[in-house]
Amino acid sequence: MGAHHRMNGGPRSVIVVGAGIVGLSTAWFLQERGVRVTVVDRAGIAAGSSWGNAGWLSPGLAIPLNEPPVLRYGLRSLFDRQAPLHVPTSPDPRLWQFLARFAANCTSRSWNRAVRANLPFNEKCLEAFDVLTEHGVDAPTIDAPITALFENAAQAGTLVAELDRLGDAGQKVCWTRFDGPALREHFPQVTERIQAGIRIDGQRYVDPGRFVESLARAVVGRGGTIRHRFEVTALRQHGHAYTVQSASGQTVSANAVVLATGAWLGGLAGKWGVRVPVRAGRGYSFTVPTDEPVPGPMYLPGIRVACTPYQGKLRVAGTMEFRKPDDPLYPARVDAIIASARPLLKGLDWSQCTDTWVGSRPVSADGRPVIGATDADGLYVAGGHGMWGLTHGAVTGQLLAEQITTGRQPAALRPFDPLR
Ligand SMILES: Cc1cc2nc3c(=O)[nH]c(=O)nc-3n(C[C@H](O)[C@H](O)[C@H](O)COP(=O)(O)OP(=O)(O)OC[C@H]3O[C@@H](n4cnc5c(N)ncnc54)[C@H](O)[C@@H]3O)c2cc1C
Repeated sequence: MGAHHRMNGGPRSVIVVGAGIVGLSTAWFLQERGVRVTVVDRAGIAAGSSWGNAGWLSPGLAIPLNEPPVLRYGLRSLFDRQAPLHVPTSPDPRLWQFLARFAANCTSRSWNRAVRANLPFNEKCLEAFDVLTEHGVDAPTIDAPITALFENAAQAGTLVAELDRLGDAGQKVCWTRFDGPALREHFPQVTERIQAGIRIDGQRYVDPGRFVESLARAVVGRGGTIRHRFEVTALRQHGHAYTVQSASGQTVSANAVVLATGAWLGGLAGKWGVRVPVRAGRGYSFTVPTDEPVPGPMYLPGIRVACTPYQGKLRVAGTMEFRKPDDPLYPARVDAIIASARPLLKGLDWSQCTDTWVGSRPVSADGRPVIGATDADGLYVAGGHGMWGLTHGAVTGQLLAEQITTGRQPAALRPFDPLR
């Protein structure tokens, strides 16, 4: 143990690569434990998927992506250009390798393992947000049920079966059925096509961009440094320290490094023994003005669209597109979301959509994130949360900071070991 480490063996300084919800939460909780942090990002704060997502903090719906029916659905989608799931037909051997591995994990066994692994995260994730907001992060998390809306009772039955499976695996979810008229009374935006609903209580939502920006301000307010336009292209270990180098040749050194680069995680982490591949599952969102206020988040499972009250309007989010994270935004995907949502929602001015955005969910091949130590001493990764990286972002930072500073892997992080 050198002068770079504290008496308890933890590092004095850490570089966090990636200023999304995961990286900044890790930085904040490291500071809580007395560590000096520098956060670097290739672009800036919330430049990845942490900005335009649906903003749900929804432990009750944090269903791992590798559900067995996803496979059937995925195969059907290959032949439908408008489908919410989109896999380009262009040859990309690594993508097809990833999808084959993902498909091999779409089994009840693998899915149940992911559900059970998520249990402690789901139990603690909202508390971790409370720690942040009670200690200087100046952005509210809003308590609200999430209401899933269906065209018929059979569709609702699919979600009920999913919630039952979650319940069997130990996930407590409190939900109630709603019928058509009561739904329309509560949600003025719902058309006659919607006949059934399920209200999932105990959830929250945030304005994710505002939250992450406020978290970044809190990190800086507590003495941390954030460097924008610092794309890490190389990472060197020397003695008890690391130096990261940017594309333009700038360097930063510290005793330890956390790679929290979201959908870009594979690029750097693969070199350090992390074999679980992470690929971009790109999603789109935009904001629409509404005639009347939207009372809370709405979920349209039939078209895989999430809607959230956002700055007096409605944020509409959807699509899972397996392209490279830096590919351009495809307006046709936005049009497909609008075409599928238009018959189900009313009082929205679709001609006035703003904030059109594409972002990359970091999707891992086995439905579980990768969080913890790599095979290089002092080098950690945190990412691959897929659909639920906002919900699980704060608790990830909290537990990883504990591991980094104590040298002990918290039990809740065992199933997410990056070297699995
Ligand atoms: C449409 C959509 C809706 C979603 N809705 C929800 C939701 O309601 N609830 C929920 O829990 N989750 C949701 N998600 C998922 C969630 O947004 C992500 O899981 C989460 O934001 C991942 O956070 P992150 O910090 O790991 O990655 P990111 O936010 O992507 O951050 C990674 C950062 O790393 C930086 N970076 C990458 N490479 C480098 C490099 N070499 N050097 C320096 N910096 C680098 C990037 O610029 C980026 O800022 C949604 C996602 C999408 C796309």
